[in-house]
Amino acid sequence: MVVVMKTSATQAEIEQVVERVRTAGGEAFVSPGELRTIIGLVGDTTRFMELPLSQLPGVENVIRVGRPYKLVARELHPEPSVVKVGSHPVDRRTVTVIAGPCAVESEQQAMEAAHMAKRAGAHLLRGGAYKPRTSPYSFQGLAKQGLEILAACREETGLPVVTEVLEARDVDLVSSLADCLQIGARNMQNFSLLKEVGKAHVPVILKRGLSATVEEWLMAAEYVAREGNMDIILCERGIRTFETATRNTLDLAGMAVAREATHLPVIVDPSHATGVRELVGPMSRAAVAAGADGIMVEIHPHPEAALSDGPQALTGDDLDRLVDEIAALGASLGRPVSGYQREAGRTPSMGWGSPQQ
Ligand code: PEP
Ligand code: MN
Repeated sequence: MVVVMKTSATQAEIEQVVERVRTAGGEAFVSPGELRTIIGLVGDTTRFMELPLSQLPGVENVIRVGRPYKLVARELHPEPSVVKVGSHPVDRRTVTVIAGPCAVESEQQAMEAAHMAKRAGAHLLRGGAYKPRTSPYSFQGLAKQGLEILAACREETGLPVVTEVLEARDVDLVSSLADCLQIGARNMQNFSLLKEVGKAHVPVILKRGLSATVEEWLMAAEYVAREGNMDIILCERGIRTFETATRNTLDLAGMAVAREATHLPVIVDPSHATGVRELVGPMSRAAVAAGADGIMVEIHPHPEAALSDGPQALTGDDLDRLVDEIAALGASLGRPVSGYQREAGRTPSMGWGSPQQ
């Protein structure tokens, strides 16, 4: 941080700033200029951030240089982190595919979706047991029964499961049945939930809030990391803008910024980002081309009958095609979809010109 003093600042005012910084355990380097004095602060900047330096007499401005987060910052950990979900490593060398229904609706629906995910070559199964719905009258999820169904799907397919936890009091239960927790966009700044998930011993996918800046998103990750859980996967899922043609606006640049600023894997959820089935393929490809470490997509055996997010759900065939395309694209970029093997008789369409394909 840098403190810029007013041109009228007195020596006593400069010394007061230096004193406050030293008392907080930092070092202050004073550089007197022709017009004004500048004071550079060295040490734990998170401590200085809490000092009311801008309010001290003679202070013109306090400029933050560097990042307000530490544990998730790339500076602290130049090597990219690998987050293991079950036996699958989510890393920066390969492209991870996560697929599953928006919500677990019944054992049969979830099982069918799990088989679709498995057949297509997805690495992880997603599915919501606790659903954060805009309307209290909409389907809220099967709660514990949904978690048990997901565990049964893992048993049957071998796919580790990812599921959202909505409340701090459910973290223990959800972590006991799932392989990876998800903090949804609406809860990105639910600090008590972040802290509780930080104490859990399972990885977490942290979605970006609907109107969160990249920095706020990374500060939310810092909350989790600070409690000891470093197994964090960031997920860009679209942000609110003035545009109404899509459900949200996919911020791929924000994904790239997060990827540059941290050592954590960063994935993209094109389903919630667009809300439109036909756009999930193109945006998945764009995400992989832009460097995303994985994609998370919603699928449903019967999208027209889905209890939530049917319009953005892919069918099994859509998912097969998408994984084929992502695998081909990833291979050309030196970032394979691990374990990918095209089944005999299934050829990638590569018809990238049309949105459906
Ligand atoms: C979800 O993934 O099921 C979900 C609710 O997503 P988001 O929190 O991104 O809206
Ligand atoms: Mn959904």
